[in-house]
Amino acid sequence: MSTLERRARERDKDENTITVVGAGPSGLACANVLARSGRRVVVREWHAEVGSRFHGDFQGLENWSSEEDVLDGLRAAGIDPNFDHVPISEGAVFDAEGKEHRVRSNRPLYYLVRRGNGSGTIDRALLTQAMAAGADVRFSDRVGTVVGRSVLAGGPRAADAIAVGYVFETDMADGDWLVLDNWLAPLGYAYLLIHGGQGTVASCMFSGFKQQEQHVQRTLSFFRDKVGLAMRNPRRFGGFANFRLPRAAVQGGHPVVGEQAGFQDALAGFGLRYALHSGVLAARSIIDGADYEGLWRRQLGPSLRIGITNRFLFNAVGPIGWKVAIRSLSTGDAGQTLRRFYSPSLVNRLLFPIAQLRYRRVLRDPSCDHRDCGCVWCEHGRDAATVPDCGPGSGRGSQSRGGVSWKSSI
Ligand SMILES: Cc1cc2nc3c(=O)[nH]c(=O)nc-3n(C[C@H](O)[C@H](O)[C@H](O)COP(=O)(O)OP(=O)(O)OC[C@H]3O[C@@H](n4cnc5c(N)ncnc54)[C@H](O)[C@@H]3O)c2cc1C
Repeated sequence: MSTLERRARERDKDENTITVVGAGPSGLACANVLARSGRRVVVREWHAEVGSRFHGDFQGLENWSSEEDVLDGLRAAGIDPNFDHVPISEGAVFDAEGKEHRVRSNRPLYYLVRRGNGSGTIDRALLTQAMAAGADVRFSDRVGTVVGRSVLAGGPRAADAIAVGYVFETDMADGDWLVLDNWLAPLGYAYLLIHGGQGTVASCMFSGFKQQEQHVQRTLSFFRDKVGLAMRNPRRFGGFANFRLPRAAVQGGHPVVGEQAGFQDALAGFGLRYALHSGVLAARSIIDGADYEGLWRRQLGPSLRIGITNRFLFNAVGPIGWKVAIRSLSTGDAGQTLRRFYSPSLVNRLLFPIAQLRYRRVLRDPSCDHRDCGCVWCEHGRDAATVPDCGPGSGRGSQSRGGVSWKSSI
């Protein structure tokens, strides 16, 4: 370690410095709010650039689950949604028999955003804002042990769902298509998103990971047949997602945010909004001296529980139930129907205790040997003040400290 690096580390131990581990949306949102409040913030990012888990692929910033528009929520938190975003209010959903249903909403169902390091991506915009606010962002800086006041924003720890497909260029017209069919995406969905000559096509699987290649090939041929999918310069991409209702999202006294805490809509596998929101909550808890546990439980807990119950129902009703759901979405305002589906209800309350059984158990994270471990899922080290080497980079198939290849688990 050079003298400069050693001095920087010493400064980081300073009581007034807050270290954010991970420069994903959750970490950067947190850093942004903290830095704007005048705190000294150091963001330590494992990889050499922002958004390295992503590849210029389109994602949806969810806007269907609440009355408040997600972009207004960001503005209210002081985050400028100055990344490229396209409001999507309609699209097509195919059922398992290949029948197309149009869905429409009076307000955007989601905002199409791009992920990765490129200009206009949400990742780059959040990075630029955090740095402009004064955050010191350090790349290629993998954290083994946290020192001093920290926020843990390291992303997913296990794969509850995976998405695999291609990003590409195309002459196709803009559009968005979704398919609910186990043949293409077991217990998940296949999707095709086209905008401005760029496209993303993928199978998002909640099961059957080992047959991922078959699902991707079936997804491609489905979209070729149904909508004339034509890809130029296709580049493969893939990733994994993790969702839990954590028993605690404070680890060794440090708030845990975003997907590292398991914050994600368990039905759709949408975690961006939760990542941003939880990052802001963690920052506020530090600035105002408020209890982060209480904040996330009040503000995120209800919708996380509904997501888990919705996932349980989705798995239970199967393709026939999905067909009924698609029909109800395609008649009337799809946004309103979805908001009802995401509102607290008696059914939800009654089913939650059963639904959560699946998402409560301690995760078996093959990248971690659970010895002296601080994993938020892991009973052993809930109060540990260290973050050991059990990071999500193993999701790329690398060898972890425990010597277990991530890939071997799926
Ligand atoms: C293929 C795919 C498609 C998706 N589509 C959608 C979608 O359409 N809509 C949606 O809402 N969500 C979607 N998601 C989920 C969404 O991408 C995540 O929920 C979101 O990125 C979580 O943000 P985060 O900040 O918690 O974690 P991440 O974005 O994973 O960021 C964590 C960061 O921490 C860094 N890090 C980890 N460990 C360390 C360490 N020890 N030291 C330093 N740095 C570390 C990582 O390198 C990474 O940069 C998708 C996910 C995938 C994989």
